[in-house]
Amino acid sequence: FVQFRDVVKSYGEHIVVMDRLSLDMRADDRLVMIGPSGSGKSSLLRVMMGLESIQGGHISFQGKPYISPEGQGGKQIDAPLQKQIGMVFQHYTLFPHLSVLGNLILAPMKVRGLGKAEATERARMYLARLGLENKLHAWPSQLSGGQKQRVAIARALMLEPSLMLFDEVTSALDPEMVIEVQNVMLQLAEQKMAMIIVTHDMHFARDIATRVVFCTAGKVVEQGPPAQIFKCPKEARTREFLEKVL
Ligand code: ATP
Ligand code: MG
Repeated sequence: FVQFRDVVKSYGEHIVVMDRLSLDMRADDRLVMIGPSGSGKSSLLRVMMGLESIQGGHISFQGKPYISPEGQGGKQIDAPLQKQIGMVFQHYTLFPHLSVLGNLILAPMKVRGLGKAEATERARMYLARLGLENKLHAWPSQLSGGQKQRVAIARALMLEPSLMLFDEVTSALDPEMVIEVQNVMLQLAEQKMAMIIVTHDMHFARDIATRVVFCTAGKVVEQGPPAQIFKCPKEARTREFLEKVL
C-alpha cells in the first residue's frame, strides 16, 4: 500500500532525517511511529503528504510510483495519489474566518467540484459521526481544543482519503479532551482506515497500532506488533527509548 525505498530526506547539508529509510505499510495497517524528538517523525508525515521533497530513493503508494527525488526528470509527485491522503496536525489548522461548515465544505467544493448541497450533506454526516452535529454553524473560536481537532479530522475525511496521517494531534490538548479525539481515531480504526500516527502516548499506541515503528538516526531500528515492541523489544536502542517514555 505504501512503500518507502531507501528514502533520503535532508534539510540543507547537515541535517539528515531519513538516511536510506525503507518502510512498508499494508492497506489494513495502522502504523504508529515512535522515536526521540528530532528523529524525523513529522518530516516523514510531511513527505508522505507531499509537503516536502526527498533527496533520494522513492515512495510508492497504491502500487504506483508516488514520490521521487527532485530533478530526476519526470514528475516529483503524483498529484492524484496525493489527493487520497488526509493529514491532521498538532495545532489546529482550522480557518478562523470560516464556520465549521465553511471549513468542511471549502476543499470538497474547490478541489473536488462538489456542489454546495452535496458538500453540506457530507459535512453533516461526518460531524454526526464525530459527535459534533450541533456545531455545524459554530466558529472555530467557539470550540474547545478537542472539538477543534475533531473538526480538523472531519475536514480531512470530507475528501474521502484512503490514508490518514496524524501528527501528535492530542499533544496540545487537556487530558479530558485527549480521550474524545482518541476515541474518534479508534472509531476510524474500526472502520479499517489506513493510518500513520505519530504520538508520544504509548498507551494509545498500544490500543490503535497494528504495527509500531521505532525510528532514530534516519532509519527504522525496529518494528513489530505493539505487544512485542512494548513488552520485549529486541534492540537496545528501542529499550532505552521505551524506558524513558513508559
Ligand atoms: P518531535 O518529536 O520533536 O516532533 P520529530 O521526530 O517530529 O520531532 P522533525 O520535526 O521531523 O522531528 O525534525 C527532524 C529534524 O529535522 C530536526 O533536527 C529538526 O530540527 C529538523 N527540521 C525539521 N524541519 C525542518 C525545516 N523545515 N528546516 C530545517 N530543519 C528542519
Ligand atoms: Mg514532530
